[in-house]
This record gives sequence, structure tokens and C-alpha cells, in this order.
Amino acid sequence: MIYLDHHASTPLAPEVIAVMGKAMQELFGNPGSVHAPGRAARAAVDQARRRVAALINSREREIVFTSGGTEASNLALRGAWRARRAGRNRIITSSVEHPAVLSACHALEADGAELVLVPVLPGGELDQNAFSDALDETVAVVSIMHANNETGVIFPVEELAKQARRCGAWMHVDAVQTGGRLPLDVNRLGVDLLSLSSHKIRGPKGAGALFVSREIDLQPITFGGKQEAGLRAGTENTLSIVGFGRAAELAREGLSSEPQRLAALRDGFEAQLLESLAGLRVHGALQERLPSVTNLGFDGIEGEAALLMLDMAGVCASSGSACASGSLEPSHVLLAMGYSAEQAHGSIRFSFGHGTRAEQLERVVELLIEKVPQLRALMLTI
Ligand code: PLP
Repeated sequence: MIYLDHHASTPLAPEVIAVMGKAMQELFGNPGSVHAPGRAARAAVDQARRRVAALINSREREIVFTSGGTEASNLALRGAWRARRAGRNRIITSSVEHPAVLSACHALEADGAELVLVPVLPGGELDQNAFSDALDETVAVVSIMHANNETGVIFPVEELAKQARRCGAWMHVDAVQTGGRLPLDVNRLGVDLLSLSSHKIRGPKGAGALFVSREIDLQPITFGGKQEAGLRAGTENTLSIVGFGRAAELAREGLSSEPQRLAALRDGFEAQLLESLAGLRVHGALQERLPSVTNLGFDGIEGEAALLMLDMAGVCASSGSACASGSLEPSHVLLAMGYSAEQAHGSIRFSFGHGTRAEQLERVVELLIEKVPQLRALMLTI
């Protein structure tokens, strides 16, 4: 099998499996209990918190563990909305956010929020004039992703955060695809809130984190115990948190070489395909992009048919985001970039990670060169 869907999820690192296996046997205590098993679980959660904090250069107590990126972004947005000052009823986000942010924002409209969706330009980059125009003293929170999960296009969140803060708004960044894949420093970025996810970086599902700057007074959205500094009630998911901590540590160690390795693989993959296949576009090609992904538009093919063909050959990829696949809705990201529904349907996302090797990509290039003309011929006969 050739797994090229690392933006959807990643296989667990063996080191993560090892610590989780040990935790499964030993860490049964409730981290809130005062006895020895409880203290052992608490120590393991605290160690994981230090490791996740180190990944983004935050303080330990600014990390709130959640069940994943989706919950982190819901807590950020709903919690910021609950904490908003009088007269601040606008939320600014982009039209290409993940549904974790877009749907949370739409849900807040029912609570009276006025939502501004900043468009992107054809290259996938944020329309910065529209962003600046949308900012004023009535904005409660700005939520812009660090890198797009479908195209990998990176947004200038440092600059956007400066502008947001000048207006007194809080800045939230969905860094689910960049946390652990690119060096991140929340102090340099100057953000108030930042979402991370464990299963995108060889950690288990069921864990994520929200960085909450100690400068802000985010409000909780779930109620119960006082866990996670009162921001996320409920007994901690010790096992997944322990795995997440180890995954964060591994990802941090890999940051000095892995981005360059993946960028070289990705660039070679794109170059070989562009050389051999006509009617092929690389979406967002001209922008600064995350090295772990390429989003390819093939004229005259149906992405789902190509995915099935790839799957039969043992190659795993995705069309658009995993959360949207199955529904056969064209990708909202590609539509926002100005592509037609037909072009969006003809797109495939290949995303790379720890296990990705040059030989695998060569095999996929050969397969596409052989099969894409066949798929196109089939489309013509239908
Ligand atoms: N945000 C982005 C940009 C994502 O790509 C994803 C998952 O694909 C999420 C949020 C959701 O994260 P999780 O699966 O941890 O809930």
C-alpha cells in the first residue's frame, strides 16, 4: 500500500504506540485523584502538556487539551464569542476554512454573530484588502487557518494577527495542518488562540489542543469539573493525551529536516507529472505552500473514479477534504479559488508524511501516466 493521505490522518509512530501501550497498562488512575495512580496519570498528562507547549513555544498552562482540532476550534470561537465585549458582534474568517471553523461560525450566526467571509484570490491566497476592510472596532474574533488542508497554501497569520489585535479583536489560528509540520512559535505569530490536532502528526485520534494566551479570558463552553484550567470539563483522555505528547516531541525533532525532505519529494512528483501529462494544474502552485501536500486538477476526469482506480492499485489519496468526501460536493476551497464544479470534481489531493519515499511517488507517477488517459477516454464515451 502507498499511503498518500497524511492530511486526512497519519499512521501512529511506533514510539507513540509504545508509550500508549504502557499507559494502557499503568495509567488507569483519574488525573484528578490524590492517590498514587491518580498522581501518576496527572504526571503523564503534565509531561504531555510540556511536550505540546514546546512544539509551539507556549507556556505549559496555555495548553488546553481537547478531543481534537474540531473541538479546539469550537472552544476558541464559541468561548471567544461568550467573552466578547459590548458592541463587538462580528466574526471574521475566510471562505476556505475547514468545516470545523466554518460550521462553528455559522452556528454562532444563530446567536447573533455577524459573519464576514473573506474571499481568496485565484491562487488560493487570502484577499488581504478585503481582510483589512472587514476589520473594525466591532470585531470580536478573527479566525484564519495557518495552511489550507486541501491546497497547503499558507496564510500570513503573523501579519493578520497584528491587524486584528490593533482593532482589539482576538486572533484564532487553525494550525491543525501546520502544527508539527512547520516550526511554530505562538509568540512570534502573536496570536491569542491556536488549534492543534494529534492524529495529523502520528499521534492517536481523540486528542488535540487549544493554545489559549494567558492574556485573554476565554470562556468555557462545556460545564462540569474544573479540568484544563476550567476550560474543558471532563476527565482527561489520558491515553490519547500521552500519545499526543510523544507525537509532538517526535514531530519537533523532525522539524529540522522533514519539511525540506517532503518539499523535495513533492516538487519532484509535481515536475514529473507536469512533464508527462497535459491538462494538469497544480492548485495554489504559485503560493508559499505546506511541503506535505499537492492538489492536482486533471482536465476531463472524475476525481472519484481516479481515486477508485488508485485504491485498486493500492494507492490512498483523497479528493478535497476527507470530511467532504462521500458527499460528492465539489470542494468549497477550489470553488472559492474560482474553479468550476467540474474542475473541482477532477481534483485529487496527495498528502505526504513520515513514511513517504521517492520510490513510492515514482510508482504513483507511472500509474497516473498510464491511467489518466484511459480515464479521460472513458469520460468521453459516457
Ligand atoms: N482543521 C483543519 C485545517 C483540518 O484539516 C482538520 C482535519 O482534517 C481539522 C481542523 C479537524 O481536526 P480533527 O480531525 O482533529 O477534529
